[in-house]
Amino acid sequence: MNDSALNLAAGRRGKILVVDDQPTNIMAAHQILQSEHEVFMATGGEQAIAFCQATPPDLLLLDVEMPGMNGMQICQCLKQDPATRDIPVIFVTGHHGQAEEIACWEAGAVDFVTKPVTPVTLRNRVNAHLTMKLQADQLRAMAFSDGLTGIANRRRLDERLDQAWRHGLRNGNPVSLILADIDYFKKYNDRYGHIAGDECLRQVALTLRAQLNRSYDLAARFGGEEFAALLPETTLAGSVSVALKIEAAIRKLRIEHAASDVSPWVTVSLGVSCLIPENEGDSQRLIELADSQLYLAKGSGRGRVCAI
Ligand code: GH3
Ligand code: MG
Ligand code: MG
Repeated sequence: MNDSALNLAAGRRGKILVVDDQPTNIMAAHQILQSEHEVFMATGGEQAIAFCQATPPDLLLLDVEMPGMNGMQICQCLKQDPATRDIPVIFVTGHHGQAEEIACWEAGAVDFVTKPVTPVTLRNRVNAHLTMKLQADQLRAMAFSDGLTGIANRRRLDERLDQAWRHGLRNGNPVSLILADIDYFKKYNDRYGHIAGDECLRQVALTLRAQLNRSYDLAARFGGEEFAALLPETTLAGSVSVALKIEAAIRKLRIEHAASDVSPWVTVSLGVSCLIPENEGDSQRLIELADSQLYLAKGSGRGRVCAI
């Protein structure tokens, strides 16, 4: 695959970290790869690991023999950490022999190249592994996002709720959840058609997401015309104010809904719940509570927020 096809398939340039104690080797790798990829450099193990933890690259090109931590040790260390485990590692080895090759595989490498490096071989090996890595990333992203709106899907929400719940169990902080449901959406579809209905769902999803400020907040499509906002480490008062902001922002879109009984524009009803986690398996309780509040919001006139 040539480089433009590779980048097209991936939708972006690959990010490669080259680790070698010899600056001349790094420069050589940089020259070979920099026209097609973003190339970063590290001259030692600690620096490489810190880089990978802070901003995981798509691929690591790792010299085996270095003073201090050697390449094998760096690789083993990265493979033990879930945050860096999936970064593919290609070793650059000075030795030729079975023992060395076996050690590379055992350390968790996806491939190795031998010194002196042949430029075209390095380029092709890197491209092959980068293509696989970037495609795997795309598949992972697709598996966790909603096809219609582009926001997170239910699977991602469940995963992040579990995570937030476990965090809360450890640090005693509350977890909040907002469920939002479009009012009289069946009538909207009946009146304006499903294509317009889909467009309405997109706008509501993006508007809901735009009201969330913290990096660990999550907007998700819960199903059908229902959306969720997960707000870790947020009190009930905080999450109610976010819910009110969402309600107002969607009303302000002024999407015509002449068939609605509550407003000439599209509105949503919202239910808010907030709990301090106490037991491991109780996170679904947060959803049940938000759902019962949503039910109350529907019953008490729609286009409003109810909270517990
Ligand atoms: P309420 O105010 O009580 O929430 O009434 P509602 O009509 O919004 O609720 P109901 O659950 O009766 O209807 C939901 C509608 O949402 C019915 C369904 O066709 C529509 N819907 C669900 N998913 C999609 C979708 O992906 N696209 C479109 N266009 N419509 C959808
Ligand atoms: Mg509904
Ligand atoms: Mg509805």
